[in-house]
Amino acid sequence: MIVILKKGTPRVKIEEMIRSLDKMDIKVQEIQGVHECVLGLIGDTSAIDPEDLRSMDIVAQVKRIQEPYKKANRKFHPENTVVDVCGRKIGDGHFQVIAGPCSVESREQMVAVSHAVKASGAGLMRGGAFKPRTSPYAFQGLRQEGLELLLEAKKASGMPIVTEIMDASHLPLFDDVDVIQVGARNMQNFELLKTLGKIDKPILLKRGLASTIDEFLMSAEYIMAGGNSKVILCERGIRTFETATRNTLDISAIPILKKRSHLPVIVDPSHAAGIRWMVEPLSMAAIAAGADGLIIEVHNNPEKALCDGAQSLTPEDFDTLMGKVRSAVTFFGKSMD
Ligand code: PEP
Ligand code: MN
Repeated sequence: MIVILKKGTPRVKIEEMIRSLDKMDIKVQEIQGVHECVLGLIGDTSAIDPEDLRSMDIVAQVKRIQEPYKKANRKFHPENTVVDVCGRKIGDGHFQVIAGPCSVESREQMVAVSHAVKASGAGLMRGGAFKPRTSPYAFQGLRQEGLELLLEAKKASGMPIVTEIMDASHLPLFDDVDVIQVGARNMQNFELLKTLGKIDKPILLKRGLASTIDEFLMSAEYIMAGGNSKVILCERGIRTFETATRNTLDISAIPILKKRSHLPVIVDPSHAAGIRWMVEPLSMAAIAAGADGLIIEVHNNPEKALCDGAQSLTPEDFDTLMGKVRSAVTFFGKSMD
């Protein structure tokens, strides 16, 4: 971090600042120019908020040289992280497809969808029990009963399950869940992230609707700072001026996240598009851009779905898509086992 001091800053003030940084184990390299004094801060500056420095009277400018995330940063962990979910590996050449309905609705639905997506080659099954809905009057999910139906489907199909948590107090209900999803709306629910940092379970962290890449990685850092390094990042589209799609899939996020971080990156083309027919082209684009997996909504009867029917694939559509996914994944040198 570089701190440029205002012209004419008195020596005593500079010494005072150097002493207070020293207390934080930050060494200072001072460069005294003709008119300006520049301080180079050496050490772990991740705990320093540049805004705190900017608010000081003697400071003209502050520039961060290093990213404030350490544990999620590829610079400090050059190898790709592989997250293993019950033997299904994600990352470093291992590609996984997570599929299932937006919401768990009934036993019949879960049985039908889980068998279908398994037969088509999905590695993990999704299904929301606690649903973050824009309207309080919309279907909120079957909650605890939904989790029980998911666990039944897991037993019957043998597929690990992925489901969203909305409140840290629900964590005891998630004991048998294999991957806990943090939805876009909770990406910056820092208390929830801290709680999930203390458990030993993979976390699927979705990018917030209007979050930058740095904010996204800082949220991953929250989980990792607590000791849980099993984080899977998920690009699911962001808010832009465009209204033709539900969100705008930020394809650039995939290579950028993979450059800056060692964590696996998967893509959710369903919530990005909001439209069934776009799931396939966006899936292909995600694979080409380097994604380590996909999470796709599949419903046995999309027209009757209680949530997100318009973007849900039928099991038949999903089967066709999986054929294409398999070819593309192989073409790009990854494996799906
Ligand atoms: C979901 O996956 O069901 C979901 C609500 O997604 P997001 O948090 O990305 O909107
Ligand atoms: Mn959904």
